[in-house]
Amino acid sequence: MSDTAPSIFSRIVAREIPADIVFENDRIIAFRDIAPQAPLHLLVVPKTQEFANVTELAAGNPELMTEVVAVAGHLAAEHANGEYRLVFNSGVTAGQTVFHVHAHVLAGGLAESSLA
Ligand code: AMP
Repeated sequence: MSDTAPSIFSRIVAREIPADIVFENDRIIAFRDIAPQAPLHLLVVPKTQEFANVTELAAGNPELMTEVVAVAGHLAAEHANGEYRLVFNSGVTAGQTVFHVHAHVLAGGLAESSLA
């Protein structure tokens, strides 16, 4: 929404704050989580901040939701062994802190993950 302040992820898209970016196209950006919970912990983020959570994304733009999942799979294959956990925290009590929809891609030994 244009009348809301840019989210922290929109600021990464705009290169206003740094991130370790591993993938980008016109619709999606992916970068390493600043506080990794697994050996590989990426965030796959639609560039639009129109959708606050995965339910909104799936209802409002299912094609973009599908692309997020596809990118997650490709990145897990590129950066780990292709096996991964995909986590969407939805709501404060579920642990969501950034209300710009994003997928956590966790791979490479997840026993210690606090997202388990
Ligand atoms: P969630 O708690 O599901 O909303 O996930 C937000 C995630 O964003 C957390 O795992 C944070 O560690 C991560 N995060 C916050 N700021 C940054 C940043 N500047 N660069 C990379 N990851 C970030």
